[in-house]
Amino acid sequence: MGRIELNRDRCKACYLCIDACPNKVLEKDTEVNVLGYYPMKVNQEKTCVGCAICARVCPDMAIEKVYR
Ligand code: SF4
Ligand code: SF4
Repeated sequence: MGRIELNRDRCKACYLCIDACPNKVLEKDTEVNVLGYYPMKVNQEKTCVGCAICARVCPDMAIEKVYR
């Protein structure tokens, strides 16, 4: 099982990562970050495989670490 570390205050809510994740692990948060956006968050019920696709597509490098 994989895991990612998100810096939610860097996220600009483009949701490219949500669309790109093959396992639909990611979703929109319901609380704003310091920039005033609703960032991506991890849906803990889903299974991350640590493929790092989300980190590669993020234009703001908000996904800082991926563990496999
Ligand atoms: S791709 Fe990056 S900036 Fe866009 S929603 Fe995901 S974490 Fe946020
Ligand atoms: S590492 Fe892969 S499986 Fe995990 S959240 Fe990112 S895109 Fe989804």
